[in-house]
Amino acid sequence: MLTIDVRKLNSRKEYAGDLVFGYDAPQELIDIPYVEFGGPVQVSLHFDILEDDSVEVKGTVAFVLKGKCSRCLKDAQQSFSGEVDAYFVPDGGESEDYRYTGGKIDLSDCLNDAIMLALPSRLVCGDGCVGSEWKEQ
Ligand SMILES: [Zn+2]
Repeated sequence: MLTIDVRKLNSRKEYAGDLVFGYDAPQELIDIPYVEFGGPVQVSLHFDILEDDSVEVKGTVAFVLKGKCSRCLKDAQQSFSGEVDAYFVPDGGESEDYRYTGGKIDLSDCLNDAIMLALPSRLVCGDGCVGSEWKEQ
């Protein structure tokens, strides 16, 4: 579930809620060679619909990266997490916040942004890993 149906929630007078789901994030978000997501990104969100129909979304994303250590190319796997703190305004808004149209919020942009902020610049097999490039010196 990647959308929040603001119009429907308003008609039911449900102005807040929690969402927990797995998100199949695009692998293109990762900019590290030989590394990919180890599974769906675990998303946990709380949202509040405000009186002007703007929507506050807060929560966390958590994911596992697996692949080759960026230093020694051994198999590596590590967990990461990041924060979601997004503010959506309905169409016509003039701010730099996320916008939504048609009464529905598409969460993928704000999730991708949160994941990218949490992504490391490299994956290493362990704290003590010293790759060959260091050993040779
Ligand atoms: Zn390593």
